[in-house]
Parts: sequence; C-alpha cells; structure tokens
Amino acid sequence: MIVVKPSFEEIDSEDLYRKVERCGRVCYKSENLITEESAKIFVKKILNNHHGAVLEHFSFAFKVDEKLYEALEREHYPFITLSNISFPLVSFNLRTIVDHYQKEKNNATLAPFYGYLEKRYPDIFCSSQGDRSEEVYCLSKDELMNLKAEERDKHLKVTIKVITDRGISHELVRHRLCSFAQESTRYCNYAKDKFSSQITVVCPISIKDDEKKYALFEKAMQEAEKSYFDLLEASQSPQVARSVLPTALKTELVMTATIEEWRLIFDLRTAVSAHPDCRYLMEMVKEYFIRKGYIV
Ligand SMILES: Cc1cc2nc3c(=O)[nH]c(=O)nc-3n(C[C@H](O)[C@H](O)[C@H](O)COP(=O)(O)OP(=O)(O)OC[C@H]3O[C@@H](n4cnc5c(N)ncnc54)[C@H](O)[C@@H]3O)c2cc1C
Repeated sequence: MIVVKPSFEEIDSEDLYRKVERCGRVCYKSENLITEESAKIFVKKILNNHHGAVLEHFSFAFKVDEKLYEALEREHYPFITLSNISFPLVSFNLRTIVDHYQKEKNNATLAPFYGYLEKRYPDIFCSSQGDRSEEVYCLSKDELMNLKAEERDKHLKVTIKVITDRGISHELVRHRLCSFAQESTRYCNYAKDKFSSQITVVCPISIKDDEKKYALFEKAMQEAEKSYFDLLEASQSPQVARSVLPTALKTELVMTATIEEWRLIFDLRTAVSAHPDCRYLMEMVKEYFIRKGYIV
C-alpha cells in the first residue's frame, strides 16, 4: 500500500490534441503511452468510442460580428456562452461544437466556426462543403486574460488535475458546471506492475499525525487491499473487485471550469463548513489561482 499526499497541477495547453490526450489518459492511467505522435490517434479513438466528455476540456473563444452574435442569441444554443461587453464574444468547448457538427453540418449560423475548425482540424471536422468562410477570430489565452474581469470570468476556462481520495472527489464532481475526467476503478487494475501491484491511498489530515489513529487507518487499508487482490485472484474483474476498495483510495480528477465556477467552488469548499481535506486541497488551488492572476 502506498500513501500519497493530496496535490494538484494545472493542465494548460493551447494544443487541442495534446490537451485532450493529457486529460483523457487520466481515466485509463495510460499517460505512459504519450509520445510525439500519440495525441491525434488518441483524440480519434475518443471520438470513435463516444467518450465525448473528454472533449470538454478544450475550449475556444471567438470574437464575432454583431450579425452572427444576434443570430446566436436568437437561436439559443445550449453550452454556448455569449457576452457583448467589449465586443461580441462567443465561447464553447470542443464537445459542444463536435456534437453540433455531427448533427447538422449545414447549420448556417455555426458555419463560420465550422469553417475555422475544418481548416485547422480536418481530421475532426471533415466535410464535403468545400472552403467555407471563417469570419471569426479565435482569442488566445493571453488575449482572454487581458479582457475585463466580467468577460474573462465567463469565458476563460482553467483545467486542474487534483490528486485526492474518492470521498473528496465525490464532493467535487457535484459541481455541475465543470467538466470532469477521472481515474477509472473500472479500467485500472491495481494488481498490475504499473501500479506497483499495490493500492494507493490518501490519509486524512486529522489522522495522519496521530499515531494511534494512523495505525487503525493503516490496518483497514491493508485489509481492503488484501480483499481486493483476493477477489482479482479469484478471477473477479477489477470493475467488480473495486467494491471493497476504501473511500481513502487515491484518485486523479481533472476538472475544467470557468473562473466564475471556480470562484463558487472556492467559496463553498474553503468555508469552515467544508470537509477539512477538501478545504486543504481547495485552499492550495485557490492560492495558485491568485498567483497566476486568474483571481485576485
Ligand atoms: C458544506 C457542504 C455540505 C454538503 N452536504 C451535502 C449533503 O449532505 N448531501 C448532498 O447531496 N450534497 C451535499 N453537498 C453538495 C451540494 O448540495 C452541492 O451539490 C454542491 O455543493 C454543488 O454546489 P452547487 O449546486 O451550488 O453548484 P454547481 O453544481 O457547481 O453549480 C453552479 C451554479 O449553477 C447553478 N445551477 C447548476 N445546476 C443547476 C440546476 N440544475 N438548476 C438551477 N441552477 C443550477 C446554481 O446557481 C449553482 O450554484 C454539500 C456541499 C457543501 C459545500
């Protein structure tokens, strides 16, 4: 049994394929398969397997003209965010536009976005429509960072991978306006070499420094680990054997959300009423957001 501390890192890339691959491989814990060439193949697999949620971790923000903005406002597309403060601004994630594209390639309102995407990502957006005009301008992360706070908070998304236990991750996945990708106890088999043939757990803050409580915790973890391995040995699949794994099991959870949603998460999860381990983790993430200038 391995014991790790909670931690986090930002997954920040303006390369669509690499970012989707980094987020998606967390589910299968197959980061060891990342190579110079693997990202495009991985994204294609995700599209073929209909694991669309992984595509939600990459987003676009476009400056558009007033006519297009008015049409988008009128037609009410779910999961497309609009604001018209400094200029008409439209953002959506890759999943949203892929879903529309697969259903209605001829949508006249979305055609300028399709034109932009077909030119840059022809293996995802391939059509027989010929060269479409692309009268939209895609903003870089730096340009989004320099917007007025009220615009930036709505359109800029930040992706954080947290390492925590399954109990805390269950709290975090209740935040409905986020997109998630999580290490799967269905697909991961902790008896395999790549997991060092051990389970990994996170010890609660209020237990780890108390010798007596830690001994009780450790014993429970060892028993759970043994039961899990015994079930695997008895030819049970990992997805069923997982039922005896502890709430303290380490998990990796990728969360992508707007700054607006992260603010709400920080408010709820750093409050005195929050779980102490969730508060500890989210206080670290919040401090990082301040250092990076995402929030003040
Ligand atoms: C201290 C604490 C104790 C908790 N205890 C429990 C518990 O005992 N049992 C339990 O089940 N959960 C519990 N929760 C989880 C809680 O109920 C929420 O699911 C979680 O905090 C997500 O918050 P949220 O719904 O405000 O925000 P999010 O899901 O992050 O959504 C963000 C905002 O979007 C809006 N929104 C999103 N979806 C909808 C919708 N469908 N309709 C209308 N508005 C929407 C709301 O304005 C919401 O605030 C607890 C949370 C905390 C912080």
